[in-house]
Parts: sequence; C-alpha cells; structure tokens
Amino acid sequence: MLAMGLAYGLCSANAQAADHQDVQDAVEQQRAPLLSTLETLVNVDSGTGYKAGLSDVEAMLTKHLKALGAQVETYPAETYGGNTIVGRLKGDGSRKIMLMIHYDTVFDEGAATQRAFRIEDGRAYGPGVGDAKGGAAVILHSLEALKTLGFDDYGQVTVVFNPDEEKGSPGSHELIHELSADQDAVLVFEPTFADPGVDAVTVVTKGINYAFLEVKGRASHAGGAPEEGRNAIMELSHQLLQLNELGDADKETTLNWTIVEGGVKRNVIPEHAKAEGDMRYFDSSEYQRVLKEAQSITKNQLIDDTEVEFHLEKGRPPLPENPQSQKLAEQAQKIYQELGQTLQAVEIGGGTDAAYAYHADSEKPAVLESLGLVGGGYHSDKEFVLVDSIVPRLYLTTRMIMQLSEVD
Ligand SMILES: [Zn+2]
Repeated sequence: MLAMGLAYGLCSANAQAADHQDVQDAVEQQRAPLLSTLETLVNVDSGTGYKAGLSDVEAMLTKHLKALGAQVETYPAETYGGNTIVGRLKGDGSRKIMLMIHYDTVFDEGAATQRAFRIEDGRAYGPGVGDAKGGAAVILHSLEALKTLGFDDYGQVTVVFNPDEEKGSPGSHELIHELSADQDAVLVFEPTFADPGVDAVTVVTKGINYAFLEVKGRASHAGGAPEEGRNAIMELSHQLLQLNELGDADKETTLNWTIVEGGVKRNVIPEHAKAEGDMRYFDSSEYQRVLKEAQSITKNQLIDDTEVEFHLEKGRPPLPENPQSQKLAEQAQKIYQELGQTLQAVEIGGGTDAAYAYHADSEKPAVLESLGLVGGGYHSDKEFVLVDSIVPRLYLTTRMIMQLSEVD
C-alpha cells in the first residue's frame, strides 16, 4: 500500500490527489462508526475522580483497542483514581509512533444523563464530546482505517489514554514522559477551536504554575480593641497590589490573582487571609524569576508583625517552540492540502499533556498537539464538535501515521 503511494507521488497534482483515494474512502467509511463510538463514550460520565464511570469508559476503550489487535496494559493513576490505558500495535516497520489523549472530563456525575449525546445542525453535543472523547474516537477510527487499508508499515503504534488530565495529570504524567522517550513522533488529540474558516494544530503550549500567598496577622475585637489586632486582609490587599506586576509582556508571562479568602466574623480583625493565582509562561526560566521577585517584593509590608509567605507550585511545563513540532505541523498542512483544505499551526495559552511527552533536554520526540475534532464551548454545557470535521481529521491522522512510518 505504501509503495504504491510513493510511486504515484511522483505524478501530477491530480494524480497525487487520486493517489490517496483509497485512504479517503477508508476514512469516509469510518465516519458513521466514529459517531457511534463517540455517542457511547459521551453517554458515560467520566469526570476526573469518578471511578465507576472511568472504569466503564476504560472497559470500552480497552475492548476497542483489543479488537484492533493491540496488546493492552493498564497502570493505576494515583491521586484521583482510574487507570492509564496503554495499547500497543506491532507492525512490520521500525518507526515508533505514539497517539495519546485523556478520557476524563470536567463534568460531574449526571451530566451525561442531562445532556446526552445529540446531533443538531451539523454539530454533535454532549459532555466531553470534543474535550476529549472526540480525540479518543479519532485515534480508534484512524487505526480502523489503517486496518481496512491493510497498512502496518510502522514498527509500533502506542496508544495512551489517561484518566486525570483535567486535574493536571498527577497520576499519569510520569508514565507519559517515560513512554514518549523513545518515540519518533507523538500525536496528541485535544480538540481545536472552530473559528470560521480556520482549522489548526498546535505547536506551542504554555506552561502553568500555581501561585499562593498567605498572610498571618493577629485577631482582636474589631469594636473593643482593634489596635491590638494585625489585619491580615489589609496586608494581603497591599501585597496583591504590589504583586500585580509579576508578568512579563515581552515574554508573554502572565500571573493573575484569581482567588481570595480571609476573615471569619464581621466583628473580628482577621487573623488569616490568602490568595491564589494562575501563572502561564513559555520561557522555563520564568519560574525562578517570578519566585525571586515575589519574595523580594513581599518584604515590603504594610503592617508590622504580620507574616507573609509566597509559594509557587509547578504545574505543567510548556511545550516550547521547537523545530520538530514545526516540521510535523508542516507535514500535517501538506496532508490537509491533499483534501484542498488549509490548516494553521498555532500557539495556545492552555497547558496540555503534549508538554509531558516532550523531552526538553534532548528536544525529542517530535510532538504535535490538537489532532482531535474541531469544535468549541469546551468545559461548558455548550460543548460541541463539527460533524464535518470528522473525515478530514481521520484523514489527517491516518496519513500522518502512514508518512511517519516511512524510513527516510
Ligand atoms: Zn482536554
């Protein structure tokens, strides 16, 4: 199958388009089965930590992988529960390709009953339909298409489905990092946004850190002896205003304070107050810079005898700009051109597991993000995917795997 493709590849543009007609037919045939898989997956709640639902979805995914001929192993994901599913398909070639996405959602138990999978005006709706059950369905049905085509020129295709991405992947990120180390390419299937006329994959994602600010003051009666107290809320307010400058516009680093808590009763000078913030960044050295600056800034206190503490906890690292992701994106763009469609390569502010697959020290493997379905409204009850994005997205993954299996 592949040899034929290579031979035709030398012909004219028209012949080249016709060249992959077999792939187009194979993915077209997967359109209806994908929708049926997606319906089954969406109609089971699998919010992070909801063990019964996660285990049902795990059983569905495992069954499908086995039917494709994969060997399947599972690894418990600690902290929130659920298992990371790893399926391996052996081929006749030498290239190693990993396909990964999470199967947990942000939705509570009951969401699937309230908003069961439905299709209306070319859009499919339901909890997690795009983020990221659509991605899991694209992986499974691209592999179905390859099976129909009799294609197995890869060395090994490793499929990873993890159960805790929406909470930062605490129980799966080490495994992802380990499994990705010797891969030639890793494709990640988060959804992409349906801007009119724009279809995209992601080459760069921001890293996330969590900022914590705590103030300890002294309680006293707000009426009888306010002067004896040390107002933790006033000190916190002062600190937040000072710490509002921690971002760096040139480097696109942001730190936004998003939660405050303090005080217990209206007639008590508050003893405790705290705040939390969300830091996003591209440049890894920003962690140290922000931490150092914040520690120095917080020394300037408004109220003597209060204690101020700033912490910065590390979340997902960034997927930095790198030539390998760029190369994969260009390859994806050419594949979209075979369909007469255009594809953009974008940077996103959100962090994803793509960053855990990338080994910054060795700049390997090649990682490309957002190969899932096209839609919007993620993490809300408006979440949808465009039904028309199914065929191009299946075609993209199927052709990517075929091309990545070639040894140059
Ligand atoms: Zn997601």
